[in-house]
Amino acid sequence: MAAKIQGKCQVYLLAVPKRCMLMAEILDGVALAKRIKDDIKKEIVQKNLEVGLAVVLVGNDPASRIYVNNKKKDCEECGISSVEYIFSESASQEEVIALIQRLNSDKQINGILIQQPFPSHIDVFTVNESVSPLKDVDAFRADTVGRIAVGSYGFLPCTPAGVMELIHSTGVPVAGKECVVVGRSNIVGKPMALMLLNESATVTICHSRTRDLGDVTRRADILVSAAGRAGLITAEMVKKGAIVIDVGMNRDKNGRLCGDVDFEGASKKADYITPVPGGVGPMTRALLMKNTLTAKSLQS
Ligand code: NAD
Repeated sequence: MAAKIQGKCQVYLLAVPKRCMLMAEILDGVALAKRIKDDIKKEIVQKNLEVGLAVVLVGNDPASRIYVNNKKKDCEECGISSVEYIFSESASQEEVIALIQRLNSDKQINGILIQQPFPSHIDVFTVNESVSPLKDVDAFRADTVGRIAVGSYGFLPCTPAGVMELIHSTGVPVAGKECVVVGRSNIVGKPMALMLLNESATVTICHSRTRDLGDVTRRADILVSAAGRAGLITAEMVKKGAIVIDVGMNRDKNGRLCGDVDFEGASKKADYITPVPGGVGPMTRALLMKNTLTAKSLQS
């Protein structure tokens, strides 16, 4: 894997196109994430930085516990110290916000991550908005997302930023491409579309009310699916030679983790494709580490 400098940002080149082959090149998110985390660690060691991330969890959601443990491991790999705050399911919104306010003024904490989902009595928007804009490493605040629209931001949301890194790793230029994003959530679909637009792509957003999804996705040179529906994107819906990025994290009928895309079928048509697991997931976590390091520099 090579790295090159494109404009101001470093681009990791992960894959080499093999157009004579039937199968798509698999974009290895684990390898790319490791490369990013190694660079973060190198910078922290070289500059002798002390970087801290606070993770706040409310309730006993088993998946959230796994995510929090994985993030703790990522912090260890990068040389970032992490501290966890775990509230019981019955904790009040005021208690959670009081902790966030304390962490906002704690100089040893550079980033604050609020693990979601929350119990239903807690308002996600209000809690997200209570995080200091300088520590919003998940980029969930409304103004953080809004700043992407005007191309002026400190943090980018981790999942779409990870997707951009995966697309850049192919070496295929984004400018001028037809890009289709399936899903319009505030944390994935909408910022994803804005980030592709900021790189001069022609972008279409699809969602649950889109009339003929396949008709739109078949136009996509770059297709990003973030619907959370197993089997939604079949091979017939993929353009030959496309880059297919699968953000979805679902369970199939056997309980196995899977994405939105029929991986086997789509990989016969696409030039590049991400697997699930091992594609976008590890990149989301690596970009959280990158945002935490960015937070440190924004606060210095
Ligand atoms: P969400 O439920 O908030 O949004 C889903 C979007 O998909 C909605 O905008 C909806 O309109 C659209 N949609 C649903 N069914 C559709 C259909 N049949 N056709 C077209 N569009 C449809 O979910 P989210 O938070 O944006 O997450 C989306 C998926 O990505 C989930 O599976 C989630 O687990 C996964 N995810 C993965 C990562 C990661 O790191 N890999 C990070 C965040 C989210």
